[in-house]
Amino acid sequence: MYRFSRAIFVEVKDLVDPHPDTVSPQEGRRRVLQCCEATIERLARDPHYFAKPSQSLFSEIRHLFSISDQVRVYRSIDRHISAAVVHILDELERAGEGQAHQCKATTRKGKPCQRTPLPDREYCPSHQHLEERLPVTA
Ligand SMILES: [Zn+2]
Repeated sequence: MYRFSRAIFVEVKDLVDPHPDTVSPQEGRRRVLQCCEATIERLARDPHYFAKPSQSLFSEIRHLFSISDQVRVYRSIDRHISAAVVHILDELERAGEGQAHQCKATTRKGKPCQRTPLPDREYCPSHQHLEERLPVTA
């Protein structure tokens, strides 16, 4: 997963040019890497509800670049973030297919429950109380 944040960082690190009164270029690069990684982590956790991840990351780090480089930085971010989103959704889909016939619960020993879920449910009969009752929307 970090190959995406790493790829953004490699492309933009030499453009880091913070205002001298704020942080050193070294510290600036550290922050850029941190923000890239945090964005990718959040994306991996929550790909459906993270709106505009590229804009979000860009707004966090744009002040560390000179105005003339910002378009380039944004394009780089957007290209890799888009690739990350495709990859994450793809993985989720594959994981979803694999898990379809296994209960989502964790046993008291901390291992995934191996039992078969009830039809159209995510949990087996002994864990069905864990099923979240989502409000039904029309
Ligand atoms: Zn179970």
